[in-house]
Amino acid sequence: MDSQSLLHDRAVGAYLGMAVGDALGATVEFMTPAEIASVHGVHDRIVGGGWLKLRPGAVTDDTEMALALGDSILAHDDVVPAAVAQAFSDWMCSKPVDIGNTVRRGIVHYRHSGEPHVPYHEQGAGNGACMRSLPVALATLGEPDQRIRRAVLDQAHVTHHNTLSDDGSLFVVKLTQAALSGTSRQVLGALIDQFQSRLPAFRYHGRQQHPSGFIVDTLVAVFQAFIAGGSFEAALIDVVNRGGDADTTGAILGMIAGAHYGRQGIPIRWLNVLDSDVAQRCERQAGALLALSAAANHPLMRGQVS
Ligand code: MN
Ligand code: MN
Repeated sequence: MDSQSLLHDRAVGAYLGMAVGDALGATVEFMTPAEIASVHGVHDRIVGGGWLKLRPGAVTDDTEMALALGDSILAHDDVVPAAVAQAFSDWMCSKPVDIGNTVRRGIVHYRHSGEPHVPYHEQGAGNGACMRSLPVALATLGEPDQRIRRAVLDQAHVTHHNTLSDDGSLFVVKLTQAALSGTSRQVLGALIDQFQSRLPAFRYHGRQQHPSGFIVDTLVAVFQAFIAGGSFEAALIDVVNRGGDADTTGAILGMIAGAHYGRQGIPIRWLNVLDSDVAQRCERQAGALLALSAAANHPLMRGQVS
């Protein structure tokens, strides 16, 4: 494959990886590792169910919010806070299968005040802004740091305005972009080490089992599983079998690992079960968002990203 086909394959891999991770993890969301082991042995099949009683292949708020954000970016060629807030509000009107408390509060704040951003809040350190950040990673690939930062925070602050959420979202976007650009797993591991040196709150304290929706717990589980796993499949199975907020660890792990291993790295048996409408939207958005980015508009690359 030439470099543009490779980049496109990784972008599609990131999008489908997120959706597959959400669909696989949702079955065991809020379970402990011991409960998962007693019910499923190793949970490695997309079978639906879980506390949300999903159809096999259905996704949850993690993927749905990313798709809503992606549509908004594509409609405006940019992250426009008021448009993102409206897109999330419209999504909430669609009676989603699940919605986080902080997300709901942010959307209600927008509906009442017309303000697209929530004020800073100490309780806003959930993983809900980070989990939906993939469209921003694609649309700003190759852009200057300041522009990436603004886009990440403009979408995050619609519902989550908190230093830890901001730091986690910014880093996950940068890590995903490094993976999209073909960075080796060893170097991605070094980026994670540097991030933890800079921000000690995200350091490991042993193996993160049963990660909560707190951004630190979520990302520690994701980083450990990504570095330990030698494939998309191994890393995703590792992270969802830790239980806890498993659809969200699955979605974030799936986005990073999908960007790294590409679409080819995602097991066909998972792609075959994924909701076909969701899969089509993921593929379409991946290409269209990438085409917005500086990476696609580089003179040497123009015209080659479909
Ligand atoms: Mn979810
Ligand atoms: Mn979740």
